[in-house]
Amino acid sequence: MTSKLHPALSRLPKVDRVLAAPELAPVVARLGVRALTLVTREVLAEARERSLESGAPPPDPGLIVEEVRVRALERGQSPLQVVINATGVLLHTNLGRAPLPRESLLRIAEVAGRYSSLELDVELGVRTRRGVGVEARLAALVGAEDALLVNNNAAAVLLALSGLCAGRDVLVSRGELLEIGGGFRIPDVLARSGARLVEVGTTNRTRADDYARAMDERTAGVLRVHPSNFKMTGFTERPSLADLAALARARGVWLLKDLGGGLVVPLPDSVDARDQAREPSVQACLTGGADVVCFSLDKLFGGPQAGALVGQGVLVQRLREDPLARALRVDKVTLAALEPLLDVYERGELSAIPLHRMLAATPAELLARAERCLAQLGAAAPAVAITPSVAAIGGGTLADATVASLALTIVTSAPNALAKRLRRGAPAVVGRVEADQVVLDLRTVLEDEDALLVQALRGALVTAT
Ligand SMILES: *Cc1c(COP(=O)(O)O)cnc(C)c1O
Repeated sequence: MTSKLHPALSRLPKVDRVLAAPELAPVVARLGVRALTLVTREVLAEARERSLESGAPPPDPGLIVEEVRVRALERGQSPLQVVINATGVLLHTNLGRAPLPRESLLRIAEVAGRYSSLELDVELGVRTRRGVGVEARLAALVGAEDALLVNNNAAAVLLALSGLCAGRDVLVSRGELLEIGGGFRIPDVLARSGARLVEVGTTNRTRADDYARAMDERTAGVLRVHPSNFKMTGFTERPSLADLAALARARGVWLLKDLGGGLVVPLPDSVDARDQAREPSVQACLTGGADVVCFSLDKLFGGPQAGALVGQGVLVQRLREDPLARALRVDKVTLAALEPLLDVYERGELSAIPLHRMLAATPAELLARAERCLAQLGAAAPAVAITPSVAAIGGGTLADATVASLALTIVTSAPNALAKRLRRGAPAVVGRVEADQVVLDLRTVLEDEDALLVQALRGALVTAT
């Protein structure tokens, strides 16, 4: 072994000397000496090993310091970091769905770092139910007798099925046995709830009569699932919600609606009228006769991750008292985020909700922003063009619904490499690669991120050359 030892190996710097390098001072300040010591030991050990193996002299100290700096910064990067969403997909599940309104952020900062009256009536000095005020306001907003908040919509559906139908049958159309993504499959959730799935109709056509014939004394309810993430066309049929509700009522079974989307206001004109017609609002499901409607609050509602069950007072109360509800209850941060959002809805100030503001941006507004970005790009501007783009609502809502948009587009022989540099930039920018182009859709870039986008793009284009 020692015979192979390169004479220059002793030139490898000691850990302390690497740590003392001025280039590392900001990294030490950010990540701490301990973390940096570990990385330095690792880099030195690898350099020694490489030298021993190859017989080549070890890298000089400057290169070691640089390697330590880069590796420590990479390691120190939180896996949860800010991303500029230039994909054009408004509700991008991988990017955290709906960004929260500013009012919600302020409220979280105000309430969550201190003790709060989460379960205390400060007037009477007695315990109250968590979320009682928020739930009452949500119920009023959608015109329901009562509302119950849980962790997400998957939890809401599970609770509704378990609490109202366990041990009995639930009818579901074969055309609605869908998978939402992330492992949420209706038949699996039904099995977990303890209810028995009874499939009715066919994949493409199910009639009210199919439900009627499948109903017997074991039937507890009908589950109607909104086809959020796919579209069925051609020779298709399903009964209206109202027809199904009339049947369910006549036969004394519950009609549960898994809506998903959580739309409570009309969508802006940027969304095609035919697409709008495909996305029922929570209110429409209730007036259509559903006994309980389940929806997400971080989709079209534009809020924090949470799920809501709204509908008949006795049913919602029964679910609230179910032991499973305790396991699915929402946290104070969620409630702090929701309360100001309800204020915004009550005041009709939709522009305060980032999702609605982005969705409502006009072509003229997008063009003005694109031109401003181009002007700020300076020397990098010639590489970038303003092109028409097609944004999508996404997030398992309004499958295929598109929204006309504008993008900053870069034609390049290596689009994937540019997309990667953008993703690894600070802040990370996620766009779309289309053929030999990187497309940065501006509809999903928050307005106050334009300058950061320009900066990131300039950096990625400079390193390209
Ligand atoms: C999105 C969606 C779900 C899952 O909701 P989460 O809030 O992600 O748990 C369930 N059902 C439908 C119809 C949906 O659109």
